Amino acid sequence: MDIETDKIWLDGELVDYDEAKVHVLTHTLHYGLGAFEGIRCYLQSDGQPAVFRLDAHIRRLLETCQITTIDPPFDQDRLEKACLETIRANELDDCYIRPVVFLGHGEMGLGATSNDVRVAIMTWPWGAYLGDEGLEHGIRAKVASFNRHHVNSSMVKGKINGQYVNSILAKREVMKSGYDEAIMVDTEGYISEASGENIFVVRDGEIFTTPMGSSILSGITRDTVVTLAEERGHEIIEQRFTRDFLYVADEIFMTGTAAEVTPVREVDDRTIGDGRPGPVTTSLQNAYFDAVKGRSGDHPEWRTVVE
Ligand code: PMP
Repeated sequence: MDIETDKIWLDGELVDYDEAKVHVLTHTLHYGLGAFEGIRCYLQSDGQPAVFRLDAHIRRLLETCQITTIDPPFDQDRLEKACLETIRANELDDCYIRPVVFLGHGEMGLGATSNDVRVAIMTWPWGAYLGDEGLEHGIRAKVASFNRHHVNSSMVKGKINGQYVNSILAKREVMKSGYDEAIMVDTEGYISEASGENIFVVRDGEIFTTPMGSSILSGITRDTVVTLAEERGHEIIEQRFTRDFLYVADEIFMTGTAAEVTPVREVDDRTIGDGRPGPVTTSLQNAYFDAVKGRSGDHPEWRTVVE
C-alpha cells in the first residue's frame, strides 16, 4: 500500500505531501484526544468517482468532536467539500479518505484548552482491508482477551483517536496467533464488535447484530447493511449475544468502511457453517458493492460524486 500522494488538506488548504507536518509537542500525539473518520470513494459504473455516505461520516466526525469537547474550526459543508477537493487534487477514484481533527502544540497539560484545533485530510488508494482472499472466502477470527471499552470509561459512540489502543491491542494479540481479526466482548462478557468492524450473525434465516445501546461504534456500514437487508425482506434482530452463539452460527460477517462486508469462516478454531460465505452474507455483500459502486441506482443520496 502506497500512502504517498501529491497533496494533503491541512487547516483549510491543500499542501504538498512533504509539507504536511506537525510538531512533536502536538497534544493529540501525547494523549490521544482527537476525532477521526474513515471514508471510502468508489469508481462508479458510469466512470465517475463518488464518496459513499460522506455526509454521515462528517456528521459522525463532528459528533466525535462534540463528545470530546473539541470545538472544530470547520463546519459540515466545508469538511465535505475539503474531502472532495483532496480526492480531486490527488486525481484518485477508488480511495480511502482519512480526516482527523486534533489538538496542536502549545500547552501540554491534560487540561489544555488554548491549543489550536487542527484538521488534516488524507487520501490514498486502499484495497480490501482484510485482504482480497478474506473478502471472497471469509476470514479467521478470534475472540481477544482484551475487553471492549466499558461505556462509562470511554465514549464508544465517538471515533476517538486514543480509544483505538484497545482495538490495536486486541488485533495484535490475535494476529500474533495467526488470525485475521479480533472479536471483542464487553465488560459483561457479551459480544460487542470486532477491532474495526461491527458484527452480524445469521442463524435459522434470522439476522442478529449487537444493539446500538451496547459498547459499539455506530457503524455507517452497519446502518447501510441493515437498510439493504430490510429492503430485501430480512428482519434484523438487535440483541446481545454470547460468544458461543457465534460458534453455532450458520453465517457470520463483519461490516466496516475499510472491511466492507467481510465473511467470517472461522471463530476460535470452530468452522462457521460449512466454512464458506453463506447465501445471506453473499447476497448482502453483493448488495453493498452494488450500492457503493452505484450499480443498482438505488439510494443516490448515499453517493456524492467527485466532480
Ligand atoms: N467499530 C469500530 C471500532 C470501528 O473502528 C469501525 C470503523 N470505523 C466500525 C465499527 C465500523 O464503522 P463504519 O462502518 O462506520 O466504518
